[in-house]
Order: sequence, then structure tokens, then C-alpha cells
Amino acid sequence: MTQPRTLISGGFLEDGSTPHILVDRDGRIIEVSERVGDVSSENVNHIDLDGRLIVPSLVEPHAHLDKSLTADVVPNPKGDLMGAIHGWRDAEAAGVIGHEEMVARIRRSLEMLLASGVTAVRSHINVGGPVSTRYLVAAIEAAATFRQRMDIEFVALTYMPMSGEGSDINLTALNDAIELGVEVIGGCPHLEPDSDSCVSKVFELAERHQRKVDLHVDETLDPTALTINDVVRYSRGSGILTTASHCVSLGMLPVDQVQSLAENVAAAEVSIVALPQTNLFLQGRDDPVATPRGLTAIHALLAAGVNLVAGADNAQDPFNFVGRNDPFETAALMVMAGHMLPIDAFATISSNPRKALGMPEVSIEVGQPADLLAVRAGSTRQAIAEAPADRIVMKGGQVVARTSAMSEFPPVIT
Ligand SMILES: [Zn+2]
Repeated sequence: MTQPRTLISGGFLEDGSTPHILVDRDGRIIEVSERVGDVSSENVNHIDLDGRLIVPSLVEPHAHLDKSLTADVVPNPKGDLMGAIHGWRDAEAAGVIGHEEMVARIRRSLEMLLASGVTAVRSHINVGGPVSTRYLVAAIEAAATFRQRMDIEFVALTYMPMSGEGSDINLTALNDAIELGVEVIGGCPHLEPDSDSCVSKVFELAERHQRKVDLHVDETLDPTALTINDVVRYSRGSGILTTASHCVSLGMLPVDQVQSLAENVAAAEVSIVALPQTNLFLQGRDDPVATPRGLTAIHALLAAGVNLVAGADNAQDPFNFVGRNDPFETAALMVMAGHMLPIDAFATISSNPRKALGMPEVSIEVGQPADLLAVRAGSTRQAIAEAPADRIVMKGGQVVARTSAMSEFPPVIT
């Protein structure tokens, strides 16, 4: 057996077992057993999990780090999507958003995510229009110090329009973003004057530059907005790893219509990202009673075999005033607002997003990367419910974040 670098013990799995986990110098699990094997303890780093639950580390598949933590300086009094978009653009024009402050905010958000147990992040970053690639440059700078602790990739969220008149400035910026190494091409086809041309352009560039695709798709309650069909058509058979985020309008379709559409999404192997925080916040504000939840068609997609993923989208910015940068919050909403079982909701913040991002699976088995989270909870359900602050985060078998929390109940003086 390869000489291990790390021995992880003292924790337990969901099934109640209490494994000793040996990790090699490449960060892969080489042994999982109920007892310590015949291993020399020399030069082996020991991590004692002290009774915590061990699960695969978490993934944030859809963040907007460039906008995060701006809720106190970028107003959105109306609280809807267009109010947020206009609020952001007004703030940009007024010079509220700057390089140094953005780098600092992104670093703070990455710290929050890492402490929560996230070892892989995909963030959309605005590219084009008046900002060109400035935000992407700030994001790359901020991410540099986290690269050994987290897998971080960026999506060029390209300004409209991406085709026709006025698109040159945005496509030039997108090409510059690709030059800078952005891994994923994105945009908002349902807001474009010509959605088909937009999606066509995205896939053309993705193929030419060997990039992945992640589009903001049909982020509206209007059931006639179905640019998902364009995404499915261009993705199918392309070999391009494709994600469609939001897909709110699918949740408003009649059951028979959504079933056939979901089957097409599954056949094209397009992953769908539900984003409960922001969609619950932004959607349905014109309906003061029987307010729609604004979530995608979660159960029809799952029944059709679609890879369903859940992300937080915006955190404390004009698109969502709250948000903790903690996927357990997302999973809790998938349980409460999306009616999923806790164990299935957990898959949407761990194994499913890994597949969507093209990452290897993580399970606590030999050969898998030791990207793990140890959390002070008795079960995955309890971890989702209580989101305990007490967590140890491991990447490749090394501790990359540790948070402890202690409550005291001093005697009351009477
Ligand atoms: Zn988004």
C-alpha cells in the first residue's frame, strides 16, 4: 500500500460506521476500515474528528461573487429582478463598485463558503458592457489565494445583446474573458432580443474554445418563456458540458408539458440548477396572494432523470438581501420550498453539482478524493436543519478550514 499522508478518524458516517480513513500524498483515499491497519504512524498527519458526522464536502454551483455582500450599498426598493438589474447598473455608473472593494468582498465570500464546507465553487461574473473584463480580473485576483483550498471556476455572464446590433462590445469582452482563462460561457438568452442567436453564439464559442456552458435560463414566471428548448437543441450531441440555471418558467407549466420537456433535458444531459434563495426572493412580487414559489419543476425533472443541482445564487446583494454562503441553507430550502427529502436535497449540494461541473464524484471510498466535511450533527438531516457552525473542512485530506462554536448558559442570579 502507498504510504499514507493522513489518517482521519474519530468521526462517523450516515450509516453509523466509524471509519479510519487513510489518505495518500495525492489527496486520495487509500483505505477505509473500522480499525487502523498495519500502517506506520511515522510522518502521518492525524486528524481527529471528535465525534462529528463525515460527509463529502459541499459545492456551490452558482454564485455571483462580484455582486456579493453589496446589499447595504446597492439598493433595490422594489425587490424584483429588473429592480436588482437596474440598481446594479446605477451603482456601476455612480462608481460605487471598485476594484479593491470587490477583491475584498470576494475574498470574504470565499472565506464564508470555505468555512461552510464548500471546496468547489462556480461563480458567474459580469463580462461586457461598461465593465468589460474588470470584474473578472478582480475575481481572478481574489481567488488566487484560495486555489489550494478550493476548486474555483468562473462563468462569463455576458452582457446583452450577444448577437446583432450592439453585440460587438460584449463579444469582444467575452473573447477577452476567454483569453483570461474563464472556464465557462454564460448569458441570459430569455432577456436577449434574439434568444436563438444568443444560444447559437454561446455554443459556437464553447466549441471553438473548448469551454463549458452555464446560462441563466427562463428566470421568469411567464410560462411562454422557454429558451430551455434552444439550450437543449444546441447542447444535444455537442459534447459540451451544459448547465441551465434557474428555469423558473418550467415550474409554471402544466404537468404533461413539463414531463416531455424534462425528458428532452435529460436526453441532452443538461444539468438544471434550482436557486431557491434568489427565486423565492425575486419572483412572484406581482402576486400578493397565492404567490408562486418561483422554483423550477423539481419533481418532474427528477422523475425524468435530469441531474438536478441547487445553488444559492446571490448572497446579500440587491438580488437577495440575505443569504449566508452556506449550502445547508440552500438544502433546507429544497426541503421546505421544494418538498425534497433531506438526503436527496443533500445530493443537490454535493454529488449532483460535482457532476454538473465535470468534477470527479466524492464518496468515502477507496480511490476517491478526500474532499470531506465533518460537521457537529447526528445525521445529514440534522446538519441541514441546524446548519451547525462547528465544522472541519478537508481538501485532499488536509484541513483547509475549521470553525468552532460554543454556547454558554451561565447561572442566572436571582
Ligand atoms: Zn445567477
